[in-house]
Amino acid sequence: MPVAAKRPCRHSGCRMLVSGRDGFCDLHRAESHRQQKQTVTIDYKERNRFYQRKAWKELRARRLSIEPLCRKCASRGVVVEGSVVDHVEPFDSINDPRALDLGNTQTLCESCHNSKTRYDRPRGG
Ligand SMILES: [Zn+2]
Ligand SMILES: [Zn+2]
Repeated sequence: MPVAAKRPCRHSGCRMLVSGRDGFCDLHRAESHRQQKQTVTIDYKERNRFYQRKAWKELRARRLSIEPLCRKCASRGVVVEGSVVDHVEPFDSINDPRALDLGNTQTLCESCHNSKTRYDRPRGG
C-alpha cells in the first residue's frame, strides 16, 4: 500500500504538492478560509440599509401578494397568514442578484421565520 499520495494544491494555478485532507497548501488554506468568511457574512448595517431600499419593499409587497400564506405551514397543511418575506438562499451582499430575485424569496409566518434563523446551521444526524 502506498503512503498517502501527494496532490497539487486545490488553489488553481498553485503547483505545491500537498498531502493534507483539505487539499490546500499552507498558504492557500489560510486564504480559502478567509474568503469563505467574507462571503457568508454581510455587514449588519449594510443588510439594514438593503431592507430600507424601495426595490426591496416593492419585491416584498409583490411576494406577499402572490403568496400571502406561510409556505412552511402550508407544506404541513396548515393555513397561516405570512408576515415575513424570507430569502430561500441567503445573499452575500446587497449587490448579490439573489437579494432582489423574486424567485429566491418565500413567505413565512413569524414563528417559522424565527425557527429557521435559529436552526439555520448544519445539524448532525
Ligand atoms: Zn497552494
Ligand atoms: Zn409558518
